[in-house]
Amino acid sequence: LASLAELDAEVPEPNRRQQTDRAPQLPASGFANADDSDSSLPNVRAWGREVLAKVPASKLGVDLVSSAAFDSNEAVDVLIERALAAQAEWAAQGGEGRAALLRRAAIELSKRRGQLIEVAASETGKTLAEGDVEISEAIDFANYYALSATKLEQVQGATFVPSKLTVVTPPWNFPIAITAGSILAPLAAGSTVIVKPAPQAKRCAAEVVEALWAAGISKDVLIFADVAEGPIGQHLISHPSVDRVILTGAYETAKLFRSWRSDLPLLAETSGKNAIIVTPSADLDVAAKDVVKSAFGHAGQKCSAASLVILVGSVADSDRFRNQLVDAASSLKVGFPDNPETEMGPIIEPAAGKLKTALTTLGEGESWLVEPHKLDVEGRLYSPGVRTGVQPNSYYHLTEFFGPVLGIMTAKNLEEAIELQNASAYGLTAGLHTMDAAELSLWLEKVQAGNLYVNRGITGAIVQRQPFGGWKRSSVGAGAKAGGPNYLVHLGSWQPAVIEG
Ligand code: GLU
Repeated sequence: LASLAELDAEVPEPNRRQQTDRAPQLPASGFANADDSDSSLPNVRAWGREVLAKVPASKLGVDLVSSAAFDSNEAVDVLIERALAAQAEWAAQGGEGRAALLRRAAIELSKRRGQLIEVAASETGKTLAEGDVEISEAIDFANYYALSATKLEQVQGATFVPSKLTVVTPPWNFPIAITAGSILAPLAAGSTVIVKPAPQAKRCAAEVVEALWAAGISKDVLIFADVAEGPIGQHLISHPSVDRVILTGAYETAKLFRSWRSDLPLLAETSGKNAIIVTPSADLDVAAKDVVKSAFGHAGQKCSAASLVILVGSVADSDRFRNQLVDAASSLKVGFPDNPETEMGPIIEPAAGKLKTALTTLGEGESWLVEPHKLDVEGRLYSPGVRTGVQPNSYYHLTEFFGPVLGIMTAKNLEEAIELQNASAYGLTAGLHTMDAAELSLWLEKVQAGNLYVNRGITGAIVQRQPFGGWKRSSVGAGAKAGGPNYLVHLGSWQPAVIEG
């Protein structure tokens, strides 16, 4: 895997997927539960650490893993002062000036594609294919927000006044794309940024920041601060000089931030509990493929992932679609992320809490259609799980698990299916598989979610074409969609023109 980083230096585009040392590939089917005493079992953490240690060290100087420098409130205050002192000059570059730097950031990110894929794989377990897509998305964010920056100043009759300081707390599940997007948007708007990395993906965040510094964005305008979670983190988030916090994470985290500072200006993309409806008119072959991809892509660790599939009428009554799901799920290749053949990699940490419950227990009326099995020493590699018989309003209907487990529900008709789909407290993504125009219009009228997908999977929003953001508890704060035309306007305020006379 280390060869990927070397390829960046030597090989221009394309040809990024060459591999040398391959980690073991687990069997595609016939999964058996791991016996913890077997020392030959895969150990994802040990492997990841070993690979990460080989990634060439940073040249520009991010202190990659230590939070020691930010061990007091005063240390955080110094950073805040540094950023604030740099803001006026950054804003004075104007939209065009900042856009030029963002376009250079896009080039720096693309030059580092191999290294970024490698770091994401070894640090977070993201497969090479999913990592590759992420780098593309990060580049899209850079170019798109560059374009947005130039348009901010075209609004007639009002002046855009950027936030002075934005704190960004990116997630570990899209450690490159969302980290880059969440930093680049406020920078494009003219705000300075302090980024506090997710503890599970510090190296990824550092690599993104390095790329942006290399593009010419100054270290005062963009500050990487590995602030410890706890009281010092709270001091940063709730500091009155912070104009905006951009968070991608759990709804509970947004609530926690708000409990620290009730008037905190948040732009938060939070949890999801998303379902795909499959009606009798659907192309079932396409639906099965899309459901499995949406449920098990990145081992289900996407806010956008399909956690439920709702079968309508005859699709529910016959075994055909269930059998297709069984075949598709149980033939997924589970393994280490650096093997190009791996379709599903490890989860971020050993399964615990709600996810462990979801992988190991059944609710009333449920049974396993495909039983998940633990395949490694720590509990980070699981084979996919599909439970059937999920009951309306049950724990498994309404809880987000963020892992490789899918539930099947049934409905007599589309109206009932939509009710089940909307029952969630969240409203991030929603899918419908149908070939019937009347069904589609009924669904469009009633469905409650930010990102809607018809006859395709429900993950993988595309910058500019399908901006990403939800309703209900999937969004806290301004509610703007990332990668969309209204995102930047929330990163400042509008000063109306003075009407003379
Ligand atoms: N934007 C991603 C998608 O459309 C999901 C982001 C997330 O999980 O937070 O799949």
